[in-house]
Amino acid sequence: MKPFDTVLMVDWSAGKRRPAKPSKDAIWIGIARAGQPDEPVYCRSRIEAEAWLAEFLNAEREAGRRVFVGFDFPFGYPQGFARHITGSGDPFALWDWLEARIRDDEAGNNNRFEVAEEMNRLFDGPGPFWGKPNPDGWPDIPYKKQGVVYDQVAERRVADLEARAASSCFQLFFKPTVGSQVLMGLPVLTRLRRRGDVAVRPFESGADANVVLAEVWPGLIEPAVKQAMAAAPTDEIRDRVQVRLLSRAISLLGDEEFDTLMTQIPAAAHEEAWIFGIGHTDRLNELALLPMTDLSPPPLRNDCFALPAGVNWTPVDEALALLEKRLTPVTAVEEVALGDALGRVLEQDVVAVRSNPPQANSAVDGYGFAGAVAEGSHVLPLLQGRAAAGVPYAGAVPPGTAIRVLTGAALPDGVDTVILEEDVTLGDGQIAFRGPLKHGANARKAGEDVVAGDVALKAGRVLTPADLALTSAVGIAQLSVRKPLRVAVISTGDELVEPGQTAREGQIFDANRPMLLAMVQRFGAMPIDMGRIADDRDALRAALDDAAEKADVILTSGGASAGDEDHVSALLSEAGAMQEWRIAVKPGRPMALGLWQGTPVFGLPGNPVAAMVCTLVFARPAMGLLAGSGWEAPQGFILPAAFEKHKKPGRREYLRGRIRDSQVEAFKSEGSGRISGLSWAEGLIEIEDGERHIQPGDPVRFIPYASFGL
Ligand code: AMP
Ligand code: MG
Repeated sequence: MKPFDTVLMVDWSAGKRRPAKPSKDAIWIGIARAGQPDEPVYCRSRIEAEAWLAEFLNAEREAGRRVFVGFDFPFGYPQGFARHITGSGDPFALWDWLEARIRDDEAGNNNRFEVAEEMNRLFDGPGPFWGKPNPDGWPDIPYKKQGVVYDQVAERRVADLEARAASSCFQLFFKPTVGSQVLMGLPVLTRLRRRGDVAVRPFESGADANVVLAEVWPGLIEPAVKQAMAAAPTDEIRDRVQVRLLSRAISLLGDEEFDTLMTQIPAAAHEEAWIFGIGHTDRLNELALLPMTDLSPPPLRNDCFALPAGVNWTPVDEALALLEKRLTPVTAVEEVALGDALGRVLEQDVVAVRSNPPQANSAVDGYGFAGAVAEGSHVLPLLQGRAAAGVPYAGAVPPGTAIRVLTGAALPDGVDTVILEEDVTLGDGQIAFRGPLKHGANARKAGEDVVAGDVALKAGRVLTPADLALTSAVGIAQLSVRKPLRVAVISTGDELVEPGQTAREGQIFDANRPMLLAMVQRFGAMPIDMGRIADDRDALRAALDDAAEKADVILTSGGASAGDEDHVSALLSEAGAMQEWRIAVKPGRPMALGLWQGTPVFGLPGNPVAAMVCTLVFARPAMGLLAGSGWEAPQGFILPAAFEKHKKPGRREYLRGRIRDSQVEAFKSEGSGRISGLSWAEGLIEIEDGERHIQPGDPVRFIPYASFGL
């Protein structure tokens, strides 16, 4: 079976809508791709969860990723039950039967007990379902199990017996409420299934489906969950830990192991369903605890650079949208100390372990007391002692008295308001001042900046000096970050010589390599200089091999078109990985994109102006995704033009520009070999794809080099 790219693990709930603050017993969804967990998702209601799943599955399909979704409730009932209810042994007939009846709303109000009553009435005697919130409601459901006999249908499935489950899918109330989860879950699965690209294990093979749903129980990795929670004592909600570890463990299964788990099932499972992973719990527990650092991220897909077929010149935005959709981080993850994290990409959210400020404190030097002060003059007795930053006042301050407080001092008990010392006359054991003063004046509340448990910084963030201040303030010393993206730079061309060497007739100095290496450095990646390579296929092949080994991305310049001496494109074609990028952009010759031994190659045009523009416009945002910092569109500014230009329709144009006197000047020549213009410029002028006649004073979009990270 084709392997899965993404694993979701859904912890279902039959309960009412949960609070906005992530809480237990809600719906939690774990997400992992090849061992890389994403932040688990918290859903307040089933309706919210269903909408999230539908949207997520759409996005994964668009990105060409195959998804395995585990749910923690039975997909079927004991043998014979489906036929008893629907007249058909097909488990999906029962799914449809339930979907047609179960009602649910945003608040979580639902009719599951009524539907269970309807099923019970189809049996002789009380029927199999039991358990309800109060003994008096729903007469066709027994309050307790006593008196319920399982002679017409078994109480447990083969899978439940195998897993030694304490629960039965007929128990609707009192923990575990598995029976209620099934009733509130199967209708959602039924609707997901109607998407068409979804298969359900083990009822369907799922070999060709883009999405496979399966029953998986978090209880299978209970030992791993226990161990993980003991090893890292945090407040992380247990349900969250479960789905996080289990989705990751499943995503780490080898292809063959996965197939085994998918296919080793007893005959009864074809109607009753089966719990994915039974019999393989040791392996799942082992994978759940595999340290993160042992992992490298999932490989890119071979077709990640494919452009729409049959289009002659692809518009810039279309090409960018494809890159954005298909590229994923390729850098490994490591833990570093706060002091070493500047410029690194956060791999996980920074969650505050301490509030900032941790306690209420004074914003000024002055005198503290309780409550607001009315207009007019006031005198308060002054207590002995003081509160200073780091040296709190131990006692309590009685109402109607004041105490000396200094900036940053924790407010003593009984103090919530501070008056500036400049506004006070200090007398003998008392202070005098004039009101009014608002309650809470000059005091900082505990957590007014960040509350413990809040996400202080999001994964994907490139850490700035201010971020390090925030990280430290909220009590975090170690950060999970990505290794810097390693970018190899190769120049190609027989005509190139190294600056410092003597250039003979017909030779030119290599301008692209120093430029590209410097750009890579400014982007926060790690440049790797692979030198100049002559127009020689074997030499270039060896250089690409070497670069693929040493780097995460390869930038080449020159030789990217389809001519005799265009060896970059020729080699990528040979490797079966060549995508010719003909983009409707000026300046810009065709680019050659592809994977060389799994490493993405940006075959840039040789022309330095085109090489720079293509790097800024295409390679840079792509490298942001590969580095884990996400997609970043450069910030542009609309300003009046100081030039005139007729632009034909059909492609986007980038001019070399700069701002003088609040107007955008364009370089005197658009010649694409004019390197001096790149240097003269302080950014690019972006002119939209359509026709334009720009006159002085007309608005144009200027993107400073700084917006491109230079
Ligand atoms: P190519 O894409 O190889 O056909 O090169 C297009 C133009 O860019 C030619 O005029 C090359 O001489 C020039 N060129 C290629 N590589 C470089 C480089 N590294 N530095 C300066 N010019 C270059
Ligand atoms: Mg060349």
